[in-house]
Amino acid sequence: MGERLLLRALRSGKSRTVILRGKKLQCIPQTLAKLSLLRVLDLRDNLISHLGPGFSSLTQLAVLNLGNNIFREVPKELKCLKSLQILHLFGNKITTISPEVFDGLDNLILLNLNNNKLACLPPQVCRLKNLKFMSLNYNQLASIPRELCSLKKLSELHVLHNQLTALPEEIRFLTNLGKLILARNQIKELPDGLCRLRKLKILDLAGNQIHVFPSAMQELQLQELYCEENPLLQKRPLYATQIEEVWTLKEITARFIMDQLDENDSVIKNSIKYYPEARNMLSQGKECPVCGKHFLSIWLECVYFQTPNQNMKISKNANCLPIKTLLCSYTCFKNRGPGIYGIV
Ligand SMILES: [Zn+2]
Repeated sequence: MGERLLLRALRSGKSRTVILRGKKLQCIPQTLAKLSLLRVLDLRDNLISHLGPGFSSLTQLAVLNLGNNIFREVPKELKCLKSLQILHLFGNKITTISPEVFDGLDNLILLNLNNNKLACLPPQVCRLKNLKFMSLNYNQLASIPRELCSLKKLSELHVLHNQLTALPEEIRFLTNLGKLILARNQIKELPDGLCRLRKLKILDLAGNQIHVFPSAMQELQLQELYCEENPLLQKRPLYATQIEEVWTLKEITARFIMDQLDENDSVIKNSIKYYPEARNMLSQGKECPVCGKHFLSIWLECVYFQTPNQNMKISKNANCLPIKTLLCSYTCFKNRGPGIYGIV
């Protein structure tokens, strides 16, 4: 049946486009392999589970739709499709992606894997250097591999309805990301790196487990923020019960050095050059918003509430965003002023 349908499709005159949607095909028509100039192939809504070896000869193929079939893995033959730009594999039963698939898809711009059963992505996803749109909605992903964050051209990432609990700090390297959809996951905390994404305009965090936004949140220039159905902290006084911790020797030394560097102590400034590890460690230091001094790894976690930009489209529950702020000591907590609340 497949061959007959293919011939009919070809007779329509557009020999570089073949559309065989919803034809109950169980395998790829063999004649297809001979159409080496084919640019667009639509096999959506069939019953296909494998591609034949002949498929590799379709080296001119730019658009391939294999959506709503019964593939259990991303077919390996795809790695030979050097011209492929758009790949739809939504609505299959895909649980695994063999790393080698990503070897040849140098020109891929859009990858749609919505509605599958993926629990993880191979780190080799970083080989999709030209990828701009990636959609992984309705899968079972527990994490985003940090290697994905090296996709410099990625402008949209959709991971709606998965099982993410966190994001990699490396997300800051996705410098072209404009739209990030993370709704309906189990994310508890957002990394500071997220706030470095200067091109990010749309952020959807609805239906997660977020209490408070990262301290650099105000650096984002969002146009739309969705955060309904999160247990966001409310603007009301909270009692802080933290007891002042005993500082470690490392913390005491780090604070001393950072303060001296702040005061332009030339001896310490010259010496630190010879200790790159120490310099690297001190670069992680944070500044206390109350006293302005630095600290390294011991702090009191507090929150302040920020009224979002009037021009930003935002969910109704977020007229006042809880933003994390870290204080250097209990002394500063006691002198913190009215805008900062402790987190119990
Ligand atoms: Zn302080």
